Amino acid sequence: MIKVTGLTDDLVKEDTVPLALCTPNPPKREALAFLVEMVKKYESDIKRAKPNDGKCWNCPKAAISYVHTPMSYLHQHGQVEGAMIVDLVQPVCVTGGQCEQEARKMIAEQLPPVGL
Ligand SMILES: [Zn+2]
Repeated sequence: MIKVTGLTDDLVKEDTVPLALCTPNPPKREALAFLVEMVKKYESDIKRAKPNDGKCWNCPKAAISYVHTPMSYLHQHGQVEGAMIVDLVQPVCVTGGQCEQEARKMIAEQLPPVGL
């Protein structure tokens, strides 16, 4: 599942997850690599969806990149919710710029640290 700031509906993507990662303590490197792979895979879908009208989440400039905050819930495999990854996406106008820093700050304040 991909939650995008400024999009009314979450983008929901089904994908296959290696079972080895569906444990409370998955191998860190593999789990991280998988998250990165998923984020890359769906970046073009996010661009097409034009979150926030193609604008930065924080200012009126056009968004040129996205801040991803993938959270892993793969250990929920076999439970009602199922294994999932929630990727919070915020469109930003400048890579490494102030709006990106603000985005990361907001996420850090609102979310508990990723359990990876
Ligand atoms: Zn901006």
